[in-house]
Amino acid sequence: MGRILGVDIGGTNTKIGIVKGSGEIELDDQIPTRAAEGPEALGTRIREWVDEHSKDYPGIDSAGFGCAGLLDGASGYLYVSPNLPGWRDLALAGLFERALSLPVVIENDVNCHAYGEYRMGAGRGTQNFICIALGTGVGGGIIINGELYRGSSGVAGEVGHTVVKAGGPPCSCGGNGCLEALIGAAAIVDRAVIALARNGDSILSGIDTLTAKDISHAAARGDAVALEVLAETGRFLGIEFSNLVHIFDPEMIAVAGGVAGAGEFIMGPAREAFKEHATHPVQERVRIVVAELGNKASFIGAALLAMERHAL
Ligand SMILES: [Zn+2]
Repeated sequence: MGRILGVDIGGTNTKIGIVKGSGEIELDDQIPTRAAEGPEALGTRIREWVDEHSKDYPGIDSAGFGCAGLLDGASGYLYVSPNLPGWRDLALAGLFERALSLPVVIENDVNCHAYGEYRMGAGRGTQNFICIALGTGVGGGIIINGELYRGSSGVAGEVGHTVVKAGGPPCSCGGNGCLEALIGAAAIVDRAVIALARNGDSILSGIDTLTAKDISHAAARGDAVALEVLAETGRFLGIEFSNLVHIFDPEMIAVAGGVAGAGEFIMGPAREAFKEHATHPVQERVRIVVAELGNKASFIGAALLAMERHAL
């Protein structure tokens, strides 16, 4: 089995690594994305990175890219990306293929994340697995019978835009009460601001520009307002678990991303809410865990998806 280049294009930085066919990371690095310079410029800099390492790591035979946004993984076409202003309506896979002289696969970054966790992280050994990534946005990736489920148009797994509170707060998608509008990082901060207006007796009261991280830190210090905000976050997440489990019947759901760093402050209430909402046989079987690979999951998953496509 050869080597594969794995790339995860972020708004600020692009993670880049060399992955063995077995999924092990051989090299792990990052370069600035500089999205404003355009995809060709990034392709050139990735090519330079590969050339720089080609003596020590020869034999790279394909490349997998993860990228946030609406894209068609089958054709490698990017419609629009929230993180990459100006990158729209691009045949991105072809563009990177020309830059790298390698076959390229492009897939939604959360799908890559889920696939990386499925193959090399928390989901190892399962066949039916869901990964939910909590951060600025809320996304998901679904593995069914060992394969990434893309749906009919490539956008399956957009769990952030499933509704968990009818009539809830407005969402960036134009809807209301979506999971992302309730537990995305900005939504967590919004709920904390509302909670602080009711009860100012909190470490958080003294902070000018509140972030989700501040709320996690305050919870770790026993702050009641922060703990309640995160518990509520968990309860919304638990409702989503129940919805997903009743549709997909996975063996495991893993929660990844920055907000998942709040760990049991969110996961404990999430498991409880899940038990309240899920039917009896389902709730006992499914394992609900925190993901294992952190921000390396996406480039590993992208690389392994490229290897599989290329091997066909
Ligand atoms: Zn939405």
